[in-house]
Amino acid sequence: MRPLDKGKCPTDKQGKNKVVIDYKSWRLDLIKRIGYYCAYCNMPLSASIQVEHVVAKIPIPGNAAGGKLDWENMLLACGPCNTVKSNQPVSPHTHYLPEEHNTLLIFDIAAHFKHNDTAIVKPAPGLLKAQQTKAEATIKLLGLDKIDRRQKVVDIRWQRRRDAMISVRACRELFLQATHSSTYDPTATARYIAEIAKTTGFFLLWFKAFADQPSVMEKLLDHCIIPGTAQNCFDKTNGFALLPRNPNNLVDPF
Ligand SMILES: [Zn+2]
Repeated sequence: MRPLDKGKCPTDKQGKNKVVIDYKSWRLDLIKRIGYYCAYCNMPLSASIQVEHVVAKIPIPGNAAGGKLDWENMLLACGPCNTVKSNQPVSPHTHYLPEEHNTLLIFDIAAHFKHNDTAIVKPAPGLLKAQQTKAEATIKLLGLDKIDRRQKVVDIRWQRRRDAMISVRACRELFLQATHSSTYDPTATARYIAEIAKTTGFFLLWFKAFADQPSVMEKLLDHCIIPGTAQNCFDKTNGFALLPRNPNNLVDPF
């Protein structure tokens, strides 16, 4: 999960905040602002893009009206994330969310401890106990550690994630080789990598693999290549180091 900033509400021709009566009407605006990826697992979306209510659309305990049609409550999600999340209550106090937290500080992607041919989302090492609990609640909310091996499989996130892991490793190898070439062009090479990341998705893998390469980090954050990553989660004056997103929250600044 990458940290997202989808920006302010899009405006209509009169310059007023756009209002919709059908949540699907946000689809194109969301693709323009955050790209064609699931906001939670970051899998690239294909033919079937779902607009996701961060707060569920049907009434839930404590929220009689259900989630609103407002721009602020909308994201894109893949089928499995949307289905697992369903109408469960969601809050930035109990879950880490892409628009509220620097999720790169909180999650990791790794092979399952039993199944080496899979990749699942795990809490990052070194979290405090409360952060770990919240990270685990988020993984459960979205089923980011699910491995669906049924004949009637519908959730292939673990496979796509695993493929992305291999692509990122290959790109890292090729990148390091390229830096030794007499014709090495840092800008072009970084751009190629960001273009491959754009089609692969699962951005956490890319940001972690290239954390020590500012030229690549700059391109991964370029909104013209991959829109929507929250820029304030990276310290551009310090090699794009990850920054907590809520520095005034002394209990949990992430
Ligand atoms: Zn997803």
